Amino acid sequence: MTVAVQVTDLHKSFGGTEVLRGVDLSVRRGEVTCVIGPSGSGKSTLLRCLNHLEKLDHGEIEVDGELIGYRRHNGRLHELRERAVTRQRAGIGMVFQGFHLFGHLTVLQNVVEAPIGVLGVPRAEAEKHARELIARVGLAGREGAYPRQLSGGQQQRVAIARALAMRPKVMLFDEPTSALDPELVGEVLEVMRGLAAEGMTMVVVTHEIGFAREVADTVVFLDQGLVVEQGPPAAVIDAPTHERTREFLARVR
Ligand code: ADP
Ligand code: MG
Repeated sequence: MTVAVQVTDLHKSFGGTEVLRGVDLSVRRGEVTCVIGPSGSGKSTLLRCLNHLEKLDHGEIEVDGELIGYRRHNGRLHELRERAVTRQRAGIGMVFQGFHLFGHLTVLQNVVEAPIGVLGVPRAEAEKHARELIARVGLAGREGAYPRQLSGGQQQRVAIARALAMRPKVMLFDEPTSALDPELVGEVLEVMRGLAAEGMTMVVVTHEIGFAREVADTVVFLDQGLVVEQGPPAAVIDAPTHERTREFLARVR
């Protein structure tokens, strides 16, 4: 199977305002999809739906062929119980704008927390894997540090290691560098570039157009809850066909 994430006719409203108005999206395994679009266009909501942090009003999401949040029975959809949702979420890594690390836990403890607590991985095995991941994000030697002792870029790299510790099928990033001082953006993008090169399936909401051009297989331009344009960076970024895409790109560059 080559499709890792399939979103079909996704609708989502908040209090009468339709924020996603029929989004279709297909992400192939091993590919990087960058989602760009104005503030308020529904990018975070889309990611949150992929992870079932938001319930859908209409439509379906499949990750690795598995329906997210629901099961089909006699042709109808039934909501999954919390435990099943937790299991699904465990397979989908998420990295937020704010790093959301546990401040009272060390780097190593942050990374092993979920594999031990949610997946039941034995501690020794979880710690071995965590040390590998911490090294992979360039933080070998900082296993015992607390988040407050790290820069924002380092904290975000720990957050990436923590998500990878669950051995996710897909990694979702929601503006992972927007909260960082400019000089710290590069080190986080570098880790993400490495992941992409290793074949991780990634959906990245970002304003880093340069990153999208270089790393994305597909760029999706979302505006007012709809996919306006999608395709390879050479098309969407360098030769957009829609006026709204052109306007947006002119503003962020
Ligand atoms: P983006 O990430 O593209 O900036 P969001 O997905 O965060 O956009 O938000 C899209 C719209 O939905 C915005 O108008 C926002 O105010 C609204 N919205 C998002 N989450 C909620 C919520 N939990 N309750 C009410 N409105 C929300
Ligand atoms: Mg957002």
